[in-house]
Amino acid sequence: MEISFKGKRILVTGAGQGIGRGIAIELWRAGANIVALSRTRAHLESLQSEYPSIDIVSVDIGDWEKTRSVIESLGHFDALVNNAAIACCEPFLDTTSTNYDRTFDVNVKAVLNISQIIARKMVDNKTHGAIVNISSQASKAALKDHAVYSASKAALDALTRSMALELGPHGIRVNSVNPTVIMTEMAKVGWSDPDKAKDMLSKIPLGRFGEVSEVVNAVVFLLSEKSSMINGVELPIDGGFLAT
Ligand code: NDP
Repeated sequence: MEISFKGKRILVTGAGQGIGRGIAIELWRAGANIVALSRTRAHLESLQSEYPSIDIVSVDIGDWEKTRSVIESLGHFDALVNNAAIACCEPFLDTTSTNYDRTFDVNVKAVLNISQIIARKMVDNKTHGAIVNISSQASKAALKDHAVYSASKAALDALTRSMALELGPHGIRVNSVNPTVIMTEMAKVGWSDPDKAKDMLSKIPLGRFGEVSEVVNAVVFLLSEKSSMINGVELPIDGGFLAT
């Protein structure tokens, strides 16, 4: 399937490493002008050293006001990928208020903040844009020690549906992808233990974890005109985990 984003300007959050970096690179390969936003400057600089035409912006998206002024300054976008997130795994009985607030600030409130500014400009410019939120299988299924993360991703799914409803009339499509474990830095924390990994693998009908490229491909499709009638879906990329 030939997909081109030539002439399109796309913002990818959390593009310093992991899935977001993969998304930014693939969209760049497909001709997009990419702004890669993330927290750690060194990660972004290593991306830019490989792909000099990718613009980089470093900001902690958990900071509402700072993020708002940075995003406002970036101008107009044709598409947005809300990928940045954190996962602090702890048992439900030990979960702290600090973890809850920080997780919801980054995983949910920042998506509202960033999307609001970008969607407003899309509406004003009459841009028929697309937004993809990176959610998780954890929004739908309980995973041990993931209470706050799961709750944040379930909230993100609800936000995706509301955005699809209210932005759809402006020609802006909003969807999410909900991956299973992808062995990035984030996943290593929760799934490096072979016993935990084995248990999860036994629940995935395809019998393996996902690859970054398998998430990237779905995001590229959902941002493209090939998915022009798809709006408000939460697409599992989970080898069948949620089907069982
Ligand atoms: P990584 O931890 O590998 O990368 C996350 C990226 O987000 C990093 O670039 C990180 O910045 C950035 N980020 C985190 N917090 C902030 C912040 N406060 N402000 C700005 N940038 C921030 O995670 P993954 O690539 O694994 O995850 C990407 C997305 O996929 C997330 O939404 C995650 O929830 C989701 N997901 C991941 C799964 C997995 O198994 N890996 C499974 C299902 C969903 P920095 O460079 O500073 O680290």
